[in-house]
Amino acid sequence: MSQHYQHDVLVIGSGAAGLTLALTLPEHLRIAVLSKGNLANGSTYWAQGGVAAVLDDMDTVESHVDDTLNAGAGLCREEAVRFTVEHSREAIQWLIDQGVPFTRDDQTAREDGGFEFHLTREGGHSHRRIIHAADATGAAIFKTLLEQARQRTNIELLEQRVAVDLITERKLGLTGQRCLGAYVLNRASGEVDTYGARFVILATGGAAKVYLYTSNPDGACGDGIAMAWRAGCRVGNLEFNQFHPTCLYHPQAKSFLITEALRGEGALLKLPSGERFMQRFDPRAELAPRDIVARAIDHEMKRLGIDCVYLDISHKPAAFVRAHFPTVYERCLDFGIDITRQPIPVVPAAHYTCGGVVVEQTGATDVPGLYAIGETSFTGLHGANRMASNSLLECFVYARSAAADILQQLDRVAMPSRLPTWDASQVTDSDEDVIIAHNWDELRRFMWDYVGIVRTNKRLQRAEHRVRLLLDEIDEFYSNYKVSRDLIELRNLAQVAELMIHSAMQRHESRGLHYTLDYPQQLPEAKDTILAPPTYGD
Ligand SMILES: Cc1cc2nc3c(=O)[nH]c(=O)nc-3n(C[C@H](O)[C@H](O)[C@H](O)COP(=O)(O)OP(=O)(O)OC[C@H]3O[C@@H](n4cnc5c(N)ncnc54)[C@H](O)[C@@H]3O)c2cc1C
Repeated sequence: MSQHYQHDVLVIGSGAAGLTLALTLPEHLRIAVLSKGNLANGSTYWAQGGVAAVLDDMDTVESHVDDTLNAGAGLCREEAVRFTVEHSREAIQWLIDQGVPFTRDDQTAREDGGFEFHLTREGGHSHRRIIHAADATGAAIFKTLLEQARQRTNIELLEQRVAVDLITERKLGLTGQRCLGAYVLNRASGEVDTYGARFVILATGGAAKVYLYTSNPDGACGDGIAMAWRAGCRVGNLEFNQFHPTCLYHPQAKSFLITEALRGEGALLKLPSGERFMQRFDPRAELAPRDIVARAIDHEMKRLGIDCVYLDISHKPAAFVRAHFPTVYERCLDFGIDITRQPIPVVPAAHYTCGGVVVEQTGATDVPGLYAIGETSFTGLHGANRMASNSLLECFVYARSAAADILQQLDRVAMPSRLPTWDASQVTDSDEDVIIAHNWDELRRFMWDYVGIVRTNKRLQRAEHRVRLLLDEIDEFYSNYKVSRDLIELRNLAQVAELMIHSAMQRHESRGLHYTLDYPQQLPEAKDTILAPPTYGD
């Protein structure tokens, strides 16, 4: 039987953003944190590099702001960038206070209490400003925050709970717009439960799984973006998807990134014939920026109809390769590829969703009582291209800002009265799951081919046509059969895909991560692409 629950705050997502918000709120509030898989299943756990912040005395807010604005190709909202960077130091201090074991730098340990953590430098940053925990920063942060959350009696951590849709006053036919909770599939019982809450937070991560190849874990389906859209929220800049140029291409290797440091140490990109090609695209060849390398690989794959290209470091001494890249070496060896002797098959992979649910500086969306934080949100920080390591920072800064806003409103917001139970009386068990599997594959493949790294008007039109057919088919399926995680995700992916296609169609220029052969130039004026659902402002 389906259950009813009530919490002061319902947090959908247990990554960096969701856990930070839950831990920042006071202990007298009853909080539920949901994850649709196990608690570690978001992108946070897999983040390697670190978190960007102004921590070194030689570094300045101005410099971090400038670097971010430059990376964003004229489209960042300066107030969002400034807000994020100005709050970076206190966000990192909060993480340190929680016990995150950031890598220390013995050389800069100081008696005056100054910063003694090791900082690295990444592409686009003009200073050393990336604080990290070796090369597994996300895992260190996640484990620490989870441990803290487990110690709090007011926080319930609930795994295998898939939010299906938000419950709003408008959907219930009441006067007002407020978000009152969510319907959530409990994967253990198979029932859809009702969660009422005074505040609902979408911390559901990105949507990179809309593409055939992605560096993201399985759950990155844009659920939060799709749910917010259906609830009446605007979305912004969804045409900007960042692709990592080199992800291992192997039928059994899910989402394994081959670090860019390999190219930094002399690895060469080659076609199946062994011929190098990067010098035809950029004088910096393999050392060109991420988006140029990804575009060149995509071009060659489409031109030759090949499944992958190769990254070759076998000309370097084997001992050097093993010492510098132990993780890549071991992981590739697991798949039978000895990188000291063989080239690595690679493809570019969708890595980060720059756009998302439009929010204010508080994380508040267009629907009262509903917040969006982390990768699912569109704050204006990333503009047309995310700068490395700014994304985790955004999770912490905006989660803390949302918590402060919720605190201010607490006295004014009552618990919603009992909400209607999910109606499953008209649906039956599906005996046609092959349709879901087929549509998953079809969607991710046409998004890759037509709405990927290089776009054209024709490709976008084709994609739009196909996504409409899929949406109709999925709607029909959704109305007739019981929901499952796969169906919920497919429905959301198709919705987000449509929004991405429409956003890309509206941009008649090439800027940052959006590159189209029909409009190769950048327009003089930079404008966000904001889409509003039919119900917006009802
Ligand atoms: C391989 C990799 C390396 C990266 N390296 C870095 C880096 O070095 N520095 C950096 O700044 N960024 C990095 N990023 C990006 C960064 O990790 C993410 O942007 C960030 O972790 C997103 O955090 P989040 O809390 O928004 O979402 P996530 O950590 O993705 O968590 C999403 C949560 O939402 C839950 N969820 C989703 N949908 C539902 C639903 N319908 N119902 C219930 N729960 C749901 C999931 O189960 C999960 O718990 C990297 C990303 C990847 C993939």
